[in-house]
Amino acid sequence: MSKIPYNDLRQVHLDFHTPGFVKVGGKFDAKEMFDTLEASEVNGVCFFATCHHGYSYFNTRTGLRHPGLDFDMFGQAAAEAASRPVDFIAYFSLNVNEVVADRHPEWVALFEDGRPVDSQILQDGSELYWRWLCPNRGPFLEEFFWPHVEECLRGYPVDGVFIDMAGYLPASCFCPECLRQMRELGIDPSDETAHSMFNSETMQKFAVELRRRMQAIRPGMRLELGCYNAFGQVQKARGVLSDFYVESLAFQAGWFNCPVMSRYVSHAGLPVVGYTGRFLKNWGDFGTVVSAQQMKTQLGIQLTSGIACGVGDHMHSDGRLEPAVYEVIREGFQFSKVRQPYCTGIERLREVALCVPAGVESNTAVAGKNTTALDVWDTLYGAAKLCMESHFQWDVIDPAMDLDGLDCVIQCHARVDAEWFEKISAFVENGGALLLDAAGLLAAGPLAARWLEFLGLDTAAWSEHPGSYYRVLDASLEAGVPPMANYAHAPSVAARTGPDAQELARTWYPPCVRSREAFYGHFHGCESEEAGPAVCEVARGRGRIIVCTQAIFTAWLQTGYHAHRTLLTNVLRRLMPEPIVITDAPGIFEITVGKMDGAYVLQALPFVADRRHRFSFESVNEAVPIGPTRLAVRLPATCLRVWNPVTGETLAHEYLEGRVTFTLPAISEHAVVVMEI
Ligand SMILES: [Zn+2]
Repeated sequence: MSKIPYNDLRQVHLDFHTPGFVKVGGKFDAKEMFDTLEASEVNGVCFFATCHHGYSYFNTRTGLRHPGLDFDMFGQAAAEAASRPVDFIAYFSLNVNEVVADRHPEWVALFEDGRPVDSQILQDGSELYWRWLCPNRGPFLEEFFWPHVEECLRGYPVDGVFIDMAGYLPASCFCPECLRQMRELGIDPSDETAHSMFNSETMQKFAVELRRRMQAIRPGMRLELGCYNAFGQVQKARGVLSDFYVESLAFQAGWFNCPVMSRYVSHAGLPVVGYTGRFLKNWGDFGTVVSAQQMKTQLGIQLTSGIACGVGDHMHSDGRLEPAVYEVIREGFQFSKVRQPYCTGIERLREVALCVPAGVESNTAVAGKNTTALDVWDTLYGAAKLCMESHFQWDVIDPAMDLDGLDCVIQCHARVDAEWFEKISAFVENGGALLLDAAGLLAAGPLAARWLEFLGLDTAAWSEHPGSYYRVLDASLEAGVPPMANYAHAPSVAARTGPDAQELARTWYPPCVRSREAFYGHFHGCESEEAGPAVCEVARGRGRIIVCTQAIFTAWLQTGYHAHRTLLTNVLRRLMPEPIVITDAPGIFEITVGKMDGAYVLQALPFVADRRHRFSFESVNEAVPIGPTRLAVRLPATCLRVWNPVTGETLAHEYLEGRVTFTLPAISEHAVVVMEI
């Protein structure tokens, strides 16, 4: 059970993966550690019971205590935490356990060609060497994992359990037992979506059984479980997990992962805790600590996402916390602490929702891996980036979730079944707007033709050109877009509009598809062949649909060509002429609005990442003031007062025709404004 209300939670996740050849814990002092944590405003800590190397840090009969540790480090920490206002969560590594994999190579998960799963490539190309076990393979859970966790929970006063590596790497597992179970269920193991749903179901069974065993020992403990559910499975966590955690170290997952995943998983109705990191790169990047400005930005993203705050650390093998790291964490958590009452757990407003397909793996190990020309994550992140930069209030949903109160849906996929078709057509008929790019046009299966007709297209097929041009035809999309043929570096669909659709922009192709046999200068050649629509609109009932035939969200994410953002912003404004927020803020100034305790709260996050070389990482090292900013926010009732609860300052405002208007002074970090009605 949590001692701390979620909305006030500031957790530290203390990684401690330590190989057997290293001495452990020589400088460990539980009292000193918790003094440091509490001085840094930490009120939740995840502490290592058992690590990826497979060693335990408590006195265990069921596992193997770390050979370089000669006392009960976990036990001392648990005893100290019990007397303090700090949640103490026991960490267990599930599918990665080198000790178990050494003893039982026959329990290791397999790739399709029979190789053991022992390699994970990170974004920067570095490789993790852990072997991944498969809980379907052999009596791993019964013989080791269940007794091990139960021994720890019975022996120590812990408030919860954190299970890491509860999942599978992409393209696994093809072990005989997984194959047998899939055969029995009629699942084709080579069908990526079906396979990932099967993996998700395996972990669901694990989670349900773990919760059952935890309840039998001490009811109501916290349970956090990573790599848990694919998109479309998030509701299954209810009654099993206590809270979701969104692990999103920017280096591994990018800056959009936290806002996207927080919005999505919060639909399960459980609290959500963010995990960013103190590291420059990824977990275990010893010798690095982000700047205080970057830490505040990372925590600011958790606040604007409306979730509880968390930071990942990795303890030195000698068992001490690095004081310089806790200086930065303290500055970050002091910053969070005064803002959390207005931000964490907020009910975000939404006018547009990005719809993700069910069955796609949602964990950070695969997010954005970009293995195919049109990865769903690229479309999703491109659309999220656009909504943030254009200051629309956005949400992330899967096809089973409700569309209540939305003005627009951006569909990031082309998986159209009868249920979704019916739901989205009813939404549009009743006045909603639907926006899709190339990624959403070519549905597979029996509804393909009806889907095209619904979108206002006569014919559509992937173009052989790897990129194509658009030239704007309609005045409503012209503003700010260079009046020329603009190239989108992404695949496109060659389409013809149906009789009831209106063409708003036209596609142009270069004279050839570049090859060694036929090439035109350095790149794709200039626009020379006029083709079908690049953007077209069709009315359906009281609503309308806009189709972009190019993979324009992906192009925007991957190239940052300003014309794409301007075009798409013009498209969204055409679909949503009265957005919740109207502002002169630049795109790097994120704005979210939500409801908290009867008031409306606006959060602003100026976010300037420094990246002056293409192979450099986007770091945030300086406070850059942006503003003053004019804001006009739609409110349902007269606004009585506008104030900043952190500074106490009241801002002059006007309320006219359903909008409150005020000026936010220049800011260089996350700011909160309360609008009382
Ligand atoms: Zn398996």
